[in-house]
Amino acid sequence: MHCPFCSAVDTKVIDSRLVGEGTSVRRRRQCLVCHERFTTFEVAELVMPRVVKSNDIREPFNEDKLCSGIMKALEKRPVSADDVENAVSHIKSKLRSTGEREVPSKMIGNLVMDELKKLDKVAYIRFASVYRSFEDIREFGEEIARLQD
Ligand SMILES: [Zn+2]
Repeated sequence: MHCPFCSAVDTKVIDSRLVGEGTSVRRRRQCLVCHERFTTFEVAELVMPRVVKSNDIREPFNEDKLCSGIMKALEKRPVSADDVENAVSHIKSKLRSTGEREVPSKMIGNLVMDELKKLDKVAYIRFASVYRSFEDIREFGEEIARLQD
């Protein structure tokens, strides 16, 4: 990259190290013309797919919305903030690994249900009852019966 001081084209890397548990690289560079030194950071650009809602409207992935949905289901349940954070990062990495530019919101809902099922059965049922809007009490009972298997 060009020198930020004199805009010279040639700069050389004089030191390079991994930072942030290996998720980014910090490089010390020196300009070959004015000899000023500067630092660059390199991180992977992780782009989340856009979300296609059931009415076909597209919206950007919203992590806050995802978290608040999960937290709401977990209200007053014995699940730690760390576990919630892990669940959110599982969901995000699954969404990224699809390699798709757009994913249906339904897919996110299903991923949330998978995570809640592992974390807390009550929260899972809470979420599923809203999300899947069970047709009647019998269907709801069937889902609970499946959980007990
Ligand atoms: Zn320079």
